[in-house]
Formats: sequence, structure tokens, C-alpha cells
Amino acid sequence: MQELETLSSPADIVSETKRLLYIESYGCAMNFSDSEIIGSIMSENGFDYTQNEFEADVVFLNTCAIRDNAEQKIRDRLKHLKNNKRKNSDLIIGVLGCMAERLKTKLLEEEKLVDIVAGPDSYRDLPKLVAEVENGNKAINVLLSREETYAEISPLRLNTNGISAFVSIMRGCDNMCSFCVVPFTRGRERSRDPQTIIQEVQTLSEAGYKEITLLGQNVDSYLWFGGGPKIEYKHLTDEQKNSSVNFAQLLEMVAVVNPNMRVRFSTSHPKDITDDVLLTMKKYDNICKHIHLPAQSGSSRILDTMNRTYTREWYFDKVKRIREIMPECTISCDIIVGFCGETEEDHQETITLMQASKFIFSYMYKYSERPGTLAQKKMTDDVPEEVKSRRLSEIIDVQNKISLENNLKMVGKTVRVLADSYSKKSKEDLCGRNDQNNMVVFPKANHQIGDFVEVVIEKVSSTTLIGKSIV
Ligand code: SF4
Repeated sequence: MQELETLSSPADIVSETKRLLYIESYGCAMNFSDSEIIGSIMSENGFDYTQNEFEADVVFLNTCAIRDNAEQKIRDRLKHLKNNKRKNSDLIIGVLGCMAERLKTKLLEEEKLVDIVAGPDSYRDLPKLVAEVENGNKAINVLLSREETYAEISPLRLNTNGISAFVSIMRGCDNMCSFCVVPFTRGRERSRDPQTIIQEVQTLSEAGYKEITLLGQNVDSYLWFGGGPKIEYKHLTDEQKNSSVNFAQLLEMVAVVNPNMRVRFSTSHPKDITDDVLLTMKKYDNICKHIHLPAQSGSSRILDTMNRTYTREWYFDKVKRIREIMPECTISCDIIVGFCGETEEDHQETITLMQASKFIFSYMYKYSERPGTLAQKKMTDDVPEEVKSRRLSEIIDVQNKISLENNLKMVGKTVRVLADSYSKKSKEDLCGRNDQNNMVVFPKANHQIGDFVEVVIEKVSSTTLIGKSIV
């Protein structure tokens, strides 16, 4: 799943009696969404938010463990937080999320500054953990749950632009890709009660939000049948089958809440995405025509060692099916280069898969071995670092060329953009995305952030479409 920029929480209205909490989120969208759940739990327990880390009573770092450098970033951040603790010896520092879950007590031993270690399923316990620290102890809860989905918690929208919001629909992952630490840090797959999802979407719609993104590690395997760890549909009882809700059905339930609110989702798994999902996307104009469909590699041999449970041919069939049902639908991808045993031939197959699939963009990484994973236990990280770097820069070049070719085809076309920010270069220009998830920049004229704007595309780069509004 895509990594987001590190953000801190904004100041809400700060009461004088309440204590102050500062949160930083790292890694994927799920973590950012979790921070909003944490925010809600803490605000119910006497905390207000501050953007200013130096006035905080409690600082939480909500962490990622997907790559070694993600964890290194947290260790560097902790070094900086030493100054905060020097100025305020009562400051409580908590490390939450995937890195906390992976390292458990080791984190308390290695990083003396840390007071609280809490895994992704223990956020309801945070107020208690804070109290434990106030009583002079270190506090830890890294128990993984088979049921927890925080279903009824109404997230406190942090860093919100009031336009786009994440809605978490499930937690955990049962897939066990051999390179991935997520099944160990986020536990078994569980789906959230659809009624609580619809309620949250309804609330966002009433609050004026224009776009929601349904989030899960593997949204296509969403299956509600009353709660608890995932059971395959075929193993459900007749009664459970009759009341079950799958992802295509959930998508439809969400799409009809407000036909003017855009719906996105992430992340899809090539083995699980179904025709029903694609046909539901086609049926509703407000479901954005973009699918993030990580391939990870273009070589069937490597896909097998990655335990991705599909082949290169299967992936191509999915891409073909998406384009048959929705010719306008764009596809983006995650690619790992230099996985254990990857040869030049495998690498070339990744390149040809990218070229044939014409991804709108890709998140591209060098393989980073993670402790505890199947790959770390059973395989050898044998591709030299310089080869990984060279292959990474080759696929980045390939993607840039594909993106530019895709974008050039957009010149002269009119696209509908949800303006969500000012352009980085000028406050006179607005920036946003069209349905297909292209980044579009255009002169502000009379438009405002939050408007849907028809923009005719005049020129492009490999990353951006540039145009002007036609009304
Ligand atoms: S699908 Fe694979 S890569 Fe994605 S979270 Fe699950 S185990 Fe990790």
C-alpha cells in the first residue's frame, strides 16, 4: 500500500483543563486512519490535540515496519524527542503501530525514551497505558485480536481538508506474502460491520466531505458475516451466507449514500478482485475509475517465491478484464525489485509487465528483508545492493516513460477534477485529481478548494496534467 507523507495533528480548540496530545503518523493510509481512531479514543479520555509537539503532554508516533528505513526514521525521530523530554520531564512518549508490534518489549529495552509500546489492536487500552506511565511504570500492550475492528468508534478527523477522508473497512491480512511483515504486525483479517461503515460515510457526507477512500490491506476479500476472523464464503453456514456482505455489495451500499460523493478504495489483490466489483464500479458514476493493483513482480517464478498466489498470466487477465469492463479505468501498481533469487530475466519480465499494463503510476521499492517473514527465514537476500539500485532506477525510467505517454493522450480532453489544495508552485493555481487519479493543476479563477471543476488539458508532464477550467 502507498506510503503517505508524515503529518502531525492539527490544533483543535484547546481547552485549558484538558491535557494535550500530539500524534505523528508514518507509513500507509491505514496508519493515518488508525491515528484518527486513536484521536477519538484519547479525546473521550480527556485529551485535546495540539500541532505543537513542544506543548504536548503525550506524544504518539504511529509507526510503520514495512521496510528497514521506515523503522530507522522512527529511531531518528526518537533521538530528536530527547530535547522535548529534557524540557518537560513529565512528557509521555508512546510508539504505536507496526514497529511497536514487531519489536514488542525489545523497543522498551532499546529506546529508553519510550514509555508506551502499543500494537494496532490495543488502541482502546491507550488511556490505561498512559495512566500506568503516570504511576511510574513503562506500559505495553501488543496483543493481537481476532475481532477488533474499532467498528463503532467515530474517527476524529486529523489533518483534514474537509474534502477527503479515509474509511477503514477491515483490518489485518491472511495472505502471508513471503516478503511482508503485515500479517505479523496487524494480525488476522477481520471485516468491519457494514452498518457502521455506512453510518460513518453518511456522517462524512453530511459534514460536506466530497470523497472517501475505503481502506483495507486487501479490500477485495472483505466479507461480513457477523464478525470475527475471516472465513471463506464457501465455509459459511446458510444463515451466514444469507446475511453476508462482500466487497462488491459494500461498494454499492457506499456508492448510493450520496451520488455526489466520490468513492475510492485501496488496496486490491489480483487474486481476489472480482467481476462483481468491476461491474459495480462501472454501474456507479461516483465510484472512481482507478484501481491500485499491486503486481510486485512480472515474473511468475518470483511471484511464486513471493507467495502471491497468482502468475504473470493471471495478472494480465485481470488487467484485460478491467479494461474490457471499464476502458477508461486506470491501474496503478506496487513493484519490488531485487527479491531473493531475482535474475536479469525476471527483472526484464517485470519491465514488460509494466509496459503492457500501462500503469498510471507505480510505487517502486528495493527489496528490504524483514525479520520474521518467510523470506527472511527460508530464502537468501542474494541480489547485491548495487544491482537492486540499478534495477530500481531502470523501472523508474520505464514508469516515467509510460506515465508521460499516458498523459500525452490526455491533451485536449476535458476531465472532472476535485480541487483539494493549492498548487505547490503558486497560490494562483489549484490542484486535485480526476476520477482516474491523475494529478491536475489549473488556474484558480473563481474556483475554490472543494469544488468539482471541469478542466480541459493543455499540456502534461510525466506526473501532472495542466489545463484550464471551462466554466
Ligand atoms: S496482501 Fe501480501 S503484501 Fe499485502 S499486506 Fe497482505 S501479506 Fe502484505
